[in-house]
Amino acid sequence: MDHFRITPDTQVDLSQHDPYYSGEISKKKGRALLKDHRQALMDLQELLYAENKRQVLIILQGIDTSGKDGVIRNVFGDVNPQGTHVVSFKVPTRHELAHDYLWRVHQHTPAQGDIVIFNRSQYEDVLVVRVHDLVPEAVWEKRYQHINEFERLLVDEGATILKFFLHISKQRQAERFLARLDRPNKRWKFNPGDLDERERWDDYQAAFEAMLSKTSTPWAPWYVIPSDRKWYRNMAVASIIVEKLNSLEMQFPKEVPDIESYRDQLIGMIED
Ligand code: ADP
Repeated sequence: MDHFRITPDTQVDLSQHDPYYSGEISKKKGRALLKDHRQALMDLQELLYAENKRQVLIILQGIDTSGKDGVIRNVFGDVNPQGTHVVSFKVPTRHELAHDYLWRVHQHTPAQGDIVIFNRSQYEDVLVVRVHDLVPEAVWEKRYQHINEFERLLVDEGATILKFFLHISKQRQAERFLARLDRPNKRWKFNPGDLDERERWDDYQAAFEAMLSKTSTPWAPWYVIPSDRKWYRNMAVASIIVEKLNSLEMQFPKEVPDIESYRDQLIGMIED
């Protein structure tokens, strides 16, 4: 899965990343792997929560229909909601806009023992903001470095950060919009404004490339996930998270001393 990791300080060209890639893996195998990873993630999250020492931040970015919601549902569907939180970043409120752009983000970073999943994130401030000229270039261009330093701060204080860019083709996006219209229970997700955003496809790709090139760091790497096939996307994200959490070698807290005497006491209580 290192294959998808962006090496720091490299120029990313998304046309060189195949969104339809699925390696040698069949759909059946991919689904079986996802099931295993979901089970592993459930156990690892419990360990993280019990250990209560470090924070895990997962960042999801990608154009409309790339599958941010789908990853949250399919990868994290089994984890205990106690200790796992999803934060979705929308258009900033007036109150949020009255502060620096990281202010609203910092409030939602994970506490020790928690996993927080950002559905969109601080990166909107170098994506939609850049594409729509919401602030001058002289302002947004400084943000890549701010964000790297902000993430460095979080990591220095015990966080693990994984960032996933869900990469889909333009063709696939049109198919997914159409699928939303075709399914009555998905129509609510369709917003005609999304088609206006699609007009800016190339600008978004350029903004994504700049983000990936400038903010994949040794402490908070980006992974470009081929996302044209949902089963592969889910499996790949789950696999990277499980591998990373395993590498942390987390430990359950030390047992209280003298477990045996407590066990005897309890057995005594039950027999009474
Ligand atoms: P989603 O598409 O994530 O399911 P919405 O349809 O509510 O949810 O979209 C959220 C919108 O908020 C997106 O268009 C996104 O670009 C926008 N947004 C998020 N953060 C910012 C920001 N910092 N500045 C401007 N717009 C933002």
